[in-house]
Amino acid sequence: MSVIKNKKATTAAALCLAVVLFFCSCGIYKGDDEKSEKQLFAMDTVIELTSYGKNSEAALEKVAEKIKELEKELSTTEENSAVNKINTANGKAVAVSGNVLVPLRASLDISEKSGGALDVTVYPVVKAWGFISKDYRVPEEIELMRLLDKVNYKNITVGDTGVVVPSGVEIDLGSVAKGYASQVVCEMLKESGVEGAVVSLGGNVQTVGRKPDGSKWRVAICDPDNPDGGITGTLTVGEAAVVTSGGYQRFFERDGKKYHHIIDPSTGNPADSGLKSVTIVCPDGTYADGLSTALFVLGLEKAMDYHEKYGGFEAVFVSDDGTVTVTDGLKDSFAPS
Ligand code: ADP
Ligand code: MG
Repeated sequence: MSVIKNKKATTAAALCLAVVLFFCSCGIYKGDDEKSEKQLFAMDTVIELTSYGKNSEAALEKVAEKIKELEKELSTTEENSAVNKINTANGKAVAVSGNVLVPLRASLDISEKSGGALDVTVYPVVKAWGFISKDYRVPEEIELMRLLDKVNYKNITVGDTGVVVPSGVEIDLGSVAKGYASQVVCEMLKESGVEGAVVSLGGNVQTVGRKPDGSKWRVAICDPDNPDGGITGTLTVGEAAVVTSGGYQRFFERDGKKYHHIIDPSTGNPADSGLKSVTIVCPDGTYADGLSTALFVLGLEKAMDYHEKYGGFEAVFVSDDGTVTVTDGLKDSFAPS
């Protein structure tokens, strides 16, 4: 790993949601193909779609529709969503599509490998803090303990076509849903024959192919201390998902203390593992999303152990003291600001 001591981000970038894309100023596109762009709001975030090549406009229309479909299926709050059916089935089996099974299996795999740092059954705790209703509150310790009784991903049974969760257990695919959506739409864009594309769902970025001039994409990592314009550094990637989780993305303040939306399932409190953000670079969007949440909960040391043991991804960690740590595979592609 490489450690950059107390590196303070200084460069102010124009747009910064959580991860920002740079289309290099030198990359002047000389081909005949079209560039298409589309913006929409779905899955509780701003979604930006960019595609190059023939069929781009039609492909982005289909992609936007697909994202809205996935939102309806995976939302915890939509009455008829598959997830809501699972959560209200009182222990009965619910038949669901691959759009639930694939992200759920990925999430459970990461749960197992991370010792439960990622746990889709933490939803009742997330609700208790008000992150779903946006009616924020600090729950009493005793309330958290009672809710944690039902939190355990091992309570979920996943079959070939359906899911069972015991009565009182509720799931939330929020930690992997945007990454799964970006994976699905990038596969659609590839199939439709576009030459290059970038999808950005809040902090989740995923790319297809190359930039029109043949060069790689540059993705900026948001400075957790200055998310409205600062950047910690940039990553140069080919086809990859680049996903950031951080305590700065969604939080509220009470009595001068900040409470964010990534919960440590072992305590019921917002994770406090010494990290401000974790960025994952991985070929698969769903895993990138699940891992960014899981490793944020684990903290740097355990996250590095996870990386060493299982691999399959690279990461950039920003610690509470501003130190930036990069896994070896990103040594040549990460440029600090
Ligand atoms: P975001 O979706 O805001 O980009 P994440 O991918 O890190 O951020 O997912 C955070 C969301 O996942 C929370 O809003 C909550 O719904 C859910 N969540 C919070 N903590 C956990 C956890 N430890 N395991 C699984 N899901 C979690
Ligand atoms: Mg995530």
